[in-house]
Amino acid sequence: EVKKHGKNGYRYYSHELDSGLAEKMELEADLRKALERDELTVHYQPQFDTSDRSMIGIEALVRWNHPARGLLYPKTFIPLAEETGLIYDLGTWVLREACRQMKDWHDGGGPRIPVSVNLSSLQFHQNNLVGYVTRILEETGLAPEYLVLEITESMMMDPATSKAILDDLARLGIRISLDDFGTGYSSLSYLRQFPIHKLKIDRSFIADITMNDNDKAIVETIISMARHLNMNVIAEGIETEDQLEILKANACKEIQGYYFSRPLPPDELEKTFWTPIQA
Ligand code: C2E
Ligand code: MG
Ligand code: MG
Ligand code: MG
Repeated sequence: EVKKHGKNGYRYYSHELDSGLAEKMELEADLRKALERDELTVHYQPQFDTSDRSMIGIEALVRWNHPARGLLYPKTFIPLAEETGLIYDLGTWVLREACRQMKDWHDGGGPRIPVSVNLSSLQFHQNNLVGYVTRILEETGLAPEYLVLEITESMMMDPATSKAILDDLARLGIRISLDDFGTGYSSLSYLRQFPIHKLKIDRSFIADITMNDNDKAIVETIISMARHLNMNVIAEGIETEDQLEILKANACKEIQGYYFSRPLPPDELEKTFWTPIQA
């Protein structure tokens, strides 16, 4: 079998590699232009309080309106942006756009709630992150209390450096949410010393929570740990009523997921969830 397909198999494989590389280079060139051509856009997914179903926050999620390929999701271009360094410009654009939009919503009769923006590891470690976040808040007029930055455990491999960055951000008055919590490496002793406002339970634990007792136990543990550490907790990826009921039964105060709303373009979010003041 190996012999029979060996040669063809190899040739096929190397052809695949070549076309993969060509496609990647093309996408990279496109991404550079996308920033100038205004092809990036942000969708917004609301977060809710489980007790009264009020909206308590909104997560900004970047999309790329590719002229030929249609709407692209972050997994197809964020890794590429990170490899090429384009993530800095992309990240700055998303942060500014999300802050601008939120300020606009506040001014136009929308709920006075914060916007969460995802940071990539490179951004988190970039020089003078605090200065640059400060500048964007000033430019857009959004008060720091209305900005949440989402980072992941894996970004905090060097505890001393991470603590310094997080302390600076906390002094600025913005809040930090630990995204995809439970999937990475976390030292609980450091977690306790970091100014982290919220743990965001990863979607992978929610997916099977109604059938898998281990996942359920992990979720319950994270919720109770957050309570003991005086942190808030939010569950992401709630798709069904049953999942919601389990989380409510375990005193999980906040949730985000398709069950309540998919991420939506700004005008659709607005139309669905509140009545804007007529200008
Ligand atoms: P994330 O920060 O964990 O965002 C949650 C992801 O789960 C989003 O995918 C969202 O659409 C999806 N999601 C929300 N509720 C549900 C649900 O009920 N079921 C399912 N199956 N999925 C749900 P999306 O928008 O494709 O983003 C994927 C990841 O890309 C994000 O994961 C985040 O890590 C990254 N990302 C998104 N926007 C940005 C950005 O502006 N900058 C950076 N650096 N990363 C971003
Ligand atoms: Mg996130
Ligand atoms: Mg997440
Ligand atoms: Mg996730």
